[in-house]
Amino acid sequence: MTTTLSQRLSAELAGLRDSGLLIRPRVLEAPQRARTHVGGVDVINLASNNYLGFADHPALKEKAAAYLREWGAGAGAVRTIAGTLRIHEDFEEQLAAFKHTGSALVLQSGFTTNQGVLGTLLQPGDLVVSDELNHASIIDGLRLTKATKKIFKHADPADLGRVLSENETDGLKLVVTDGVFSMDGDIAPLDRLVEVARKYGAVTYVDDAHGSGVLGEAGRGTVHHFGLQDSEDVIQVGTLSKAWGVVGGYAAGHADLRELLINRARPYLFSTGHPPAVVGALSAALDLVQQEPEFMERLWANTRFFKAELARLGFDTMGSETPITPVLFGETGAAFEASQRLLHQGVFAVGLGFPTVPRGLARIRNIVTAEHTRDDLDQALAAYERVGREMGVIGG
Ligand code: PMP
Repeated sequence: MTTTLSQRLSAELAGLRDSGLLIRPRVLEAPQRARTHVGGVDVINLASNNYLGFADHPALKEKAAAYLREWGAGAGAVRTIAGTLRIHEDFEEQLAAFKHTGSALVLQSGFTTNQGVLGTLLQPGDLVVSDELNHASIIDGLRLTKATKKIFKHADPADLGRVLSENETDGLKLVVTDGVFSMDGDIAPLDRLVEVARKYGAVTYVDDAHGSGVLGEAGRGTVHHFGLQDSEDVIQVGTLSKAWGVVGGYAAGHADLRELLINRARPYLFSTGHPPAVVGALSAALDLVQQEPEFMERLWANTRFFKAELARLGFDTMGSETPITPVLFGETGAAFEASQRLLHQGVFAVGLGFPTVPRGLARIRNIVTAEHTRDDLDQALAAYERVGREMGVIGG
């Protein structure tokens, strides 16, 4: 008998429920800020990727409103069909100048950017070598290609060299890595990866979703952090939804990259461009990070303080080097319980367990932002101390 829709839905949901993987997003009753409201309670928010605190920043909202009034609510259709608004073109020029790249193109999201760029660049006969911990959108992007796919050990230039030496091809070779890894908060050793890639004639592709707005001069990203800007053999992609506070993805690199993507990248060719308000907010974000270095300074001062205090209390922050600050709880159940207990103490921070992270390495992922005050972080640390002691994760 044919499976009915309700059979399929209930079987799938039951499977998720039984394995403890059913997700129900928390509803925020206030904007996405350092302090927000969950379930009617005022909480310190350590769950977002709003690194610079731009998601509800007045400068972004004002420019979004101005562009909305002047340019309308929507883009009309796909940019190659209905025409592209001047503000889209101007923002891409602004972004390419910021990144020091020959060109930049904005797509709907970071997720579709990986699909669009990897799907466009890679052809049968090409070789792509991807870090084992790369983001899901890279994995899905690679599924769209007929290139030969290989994995290298996480952040391991020697293993990358081994894979490249064992897989010769006349086609394009692409090494793919996140700039900053979203679960552990570690930075890819990009200088050494690029050196190995170059030895084998490979191009390096960096997904800088968590490095952009966080690392490098004025938040130019991981590529700048390692002084690799102005390299034609490095492609930068990323999101405009995290530090930049809004939504969208970008690809920046070689002068011809943009034109090829406009002609071939399927998310660009078959999906409508961003509404003017999005472009306005993004343009304000890019101005703000360059005009006011205090945002990045506060982000890093908060990051250093929070990590040091967690370590002093006896928590394991798993070697994180960035505002992404995991706290190890071990078993999945323990991480979820800790997240629940923290919420009762006014701290909103997400528990991550298997299969999102390896077994035994379940954690709470805290994301520090520029918007948190010292008082916010002190309160969060006090809650951590209580929960850590109650659960026997720290001594005393
Ligand atoms: N790449 C990485 C490394 C990410 O962490 C994310 C966001 N989860 C994305 C891409 C997707 O970005 P977006 O949310 O803009 O689709």
